[in-house]
Amino acid sequence: MFELEKLARKNVLNLKPYSSARDDFKGIASVYLDANENPYGTLFNRYPDPHQNTLKQKISAIKKIPVNQIFLGNGSDEPIDLLIRAFCEPGVDNVLIPQPTYGMYTVSAEINNVKIKTVKLTADFDLDVESTTSAWDDQTKLIFLCSPNNPSGNLLSSNRIRKILETFKGIVVVDEAYIDFTHVPGFIPLLGQYPNLVILQTLSKAWSMAALRVGMCFASQEIIALLNKIKPPYNISLLSQKTAEDGLNNEITKNEWVAKIIQERKNLAEDIKKLRIVKKVYPSDANFLLVKVIKAKEVYQKLVECGIIVRDRSNVVLCEDCLRITVGTEKENEALLNELNTI
Ligand code: PMP
Repeated sequence: MFELEKLARKNVLNLKPYSSARDDFKGIASVYLDANENPYGTLFNRYPDPHQNTLKQKISAIKKIPVNQIFLGNGSDEPIDLLIRAFCEPGVDNVLIPQPTYGMYTVSAEINNVKIKTVKLTADFDLDVESTTSAWDDQTKLIFLCSPNNPSGNLLSSNRIRKILETFKGIVVVDEAYIDFTHVPGFIPLLGQYPNLVILQTLSKAWSMAALRVGMCFASQEIIALLNKIKPPYNISLLSQKTAEDGLNNEITKNEWVAKIIQERKNLAEDIKKLRIVKKVYPSDANFLLVKVIKAKEVYQKLVECGIIVRDRSNVVLCEDCLRITVGTEKENEALLNELNTI
């Protein structure tokens, strides 16, 4: 039986969140003298909606999930941090992070003085259910699963994720930042089935709005309420809210970008495979490729010298001699291939 009260930090459960007078009287007043704003001036003189209601309604319609099961953060990096702060007692609790994966889970845990347990993914970067289930202990509050995984690019097998959801007593965070580049629905349809499931998505990738910093977190109403309690009151600026609302009207264009990127991913993978220095191109369900090359550090450096920046992942576990390459435009990919050809 999943009991949020037993899992969340006591101080978080007990605290009284900051509330602005605007929360209590929104829409019914005509004179706002409560927030020490400047009554003159720009379009930006008033604080933005702390609950981002209009934006959430748009996301709710697209993702088919009720508004009260949506939390929006300053990028998905914010809910990663808030989840750790909501559930992990510093110096006591720990998080479990199968490796290799996105680096911010570790950084956020370290910032919060929360211990980290790691297990390795399998050689083909899938979950090793046995080693994962034997790695957690009574103090493990969160497991971070990234699917499609960064930096490997593959989806984790959904049966294995479900196995973890069914056996782990804490929160399972499934980070689906790259879900739009796959052909699977992801875990949103399963939210009702698993009270310990938290899903992260973002407007930074397929939706092409990385600069706005809007990350999405989907979970039970109770978990979302907990995150709302501890977030900074106005965590998403008015400009970001409004621009994201407009951007979400372009779903057809988003789908066209995604289709192009998937096609380019295929072309780029085929072309890269032919290069002399390339040992392996890993299959990708994301908008990047993990590529094993001969002498990755040297290749990386040579690319830097001609103004092309990829990500050197060669020091990362299971990624020896690997570079992570974002799929760019046809022209950018061509420039990359031309340089790689000369190495
Ligand atoms: N999750 C994963 C797996 C990522 O790769 C990234 C960014 N590279 C993020 C989350 C952060 O995304 P955001 O821009 O929403 O903070």
